Amino acid sequence: MRLDGKVALITGGASGIGLATSRKFVREGAKVVIADINLDQAEAAAAAIAAEGFEGSVAAVRVNVSVFAEVEAAVARAVEVFGKLDVIFNNAGIAGGKPLLEHDPVADYEPIIRVDQDGVYYGILAAGRQFRAQGTGGVIISTSSIYGEQAAELSFTYSAAKAAVISFTRSAAYELAEYGVRAVAITPGRVGTPIINQFSEELKAVFASEQLRNKLTEPEEIANVVAFLASDEANVINGTVVSVDDGYSVF
Ligand code: NAD
Repeated sequence: MRLDGKVALITGGASGIGLATSRKFVREGAKVVIADINLDQAEAAAAAIAAEGFEGSVAAVRVNVSVFAEVEAAVARAVEVFGKLDVIFNNAGIAGGKPLLEHDPVADYEPIIRVDQDGVYYGILAAGRQFRAQGTGGVIISTSSIYGEQAAELSFTYSAAKAAVISFTRSAAYELAEYGVRAVAITPGRVGTPIINQFSEELKAVFASEQLRNKLTEPEEIANVVAFLASDEANVINGTVVSVDDGYSVF
């Protein structure tokens, strides 16, 4: 199996892309710690995956990725439960936004930056230190967005945070290569998760029409790519962005 023997920490693992990736990783032979701010949902996700025949392969931990000490503790928990860390998927995120000139400069800026930007920085720092201490190398995958590469309506702050994820990825690959660490960012388009499902059917149809298959991406389709990127088969993919947007960016 593609991820046999690997240990992964997946932030935002209780829902959407993170949940699909947690399940995929376990099916590919990995041990997974689902780390989420919603502990009840993380524990339920871990129990559901365990009940699919993977008892002992999945655990849950509460983390607020905006707090560095909590991210460090989640990394430590993965090491405590499964003995080491090989992969971190910095995927927890929140969305939302207003037209720029209607912003409250605190309320419409800080929460998204704290989660989507600082949370990824903290994940890279905490996992990078663990990888260096282990001397085993490691893989850092972080969820950016199509909005990290282009402007979009109501996304001023979100776009900035997601652009930072791409920059962090390049710099992490550069700085951590000497420790055998790879870093990759993914840019999903429109994925059918709670972030998107909150919108009206009309708006979801518009989102779908902006992708070449004219449908929302399934979280499992993103998970398939993340599993490949986390595997040794992807050893030459480093410091770059892997687009998983079903052609959104050709328009
Ligand atoms: P989701 O809402 O289903 O999952 C996000 C998860 O992150 C939730 O389980 C939530 O509890 C958790 N979370 C939120 N804040 C947290 C925090 N401070 N600490 C720890 N966990 C926290 O949404 P999703 O679509 O699966 O989103 C996953 C990632 O994909 C996000 O980074 C999002 O920005 C990105 N993304 C999503 C889409 C899309 O169309 N769904 C597109 C591009 C990028």
